Amino acid sequence: MRDIVTGLTSSKPAENRAAVRGLLTAGPLFCSDPLMRLLNDPSFEYELVSAELLQFLRTTVRLQGTGISSDGIGTYRHLTFSTHAVPKKGVVIFVDGRDVRDVIVLQLVLLVQSAGIENLKFCQAPECQRLFVKTYRRKFCSKLCQKRVNEREQRAKARTLKARKARSRARQRRKLAPS
Ligand SMILES: [Zn+2]
Repeated sequence: MRDIVTGLTSSKPAENRAAVRGLLTAGPLFCSDPLMRLLNDPSFEYELVSAELLQFLRTTVRLQGTGISSDGIGTYRHLTFSTHAVPKKGVVIFVDGRDVRDVIVLQLVLLVQSAGIENLKFCQAPECQRLFVKTYRRKFCSKLCQKRVNEREQRAKARTLKARKARSRARQRRKLAPS
């Protein structure tokens, strides 16, 4: 899920594209070959699909624990699921459909469901708010955001300390001054 979320939240169209492709090529379900070919159709609007998926994820994460519901995201056409038995290895499920976007939506929903929506967080840097997959107690999407916020906090602390010292010096002066 991390690669997909990183790709969808990227400002680079090539990375959005890779994430959308990844949802077809890397599962959770296997995709039929004709579906993969649809992905190479020059009219396929990667950026639009990427933006739509990201919007869905952001809304879902934002609504966590609020008690508010949202319409979410939909599929439009018929999807089929076929099973292919592999000798001695069990069975795999393939998904197929006319609309490649539908399959991508399904793959994202399956992925998020299995990886756990609670592992998706918004970056705590006020100017960032990017979505990321949390590991341990990480609060920020990147080292850069963490550094920026830490530096800001340190500057604020230094300012408070300076102000406190100035106040105590002023008090000292008042004490020493002849009344
Ligand atoms: Zn960030």
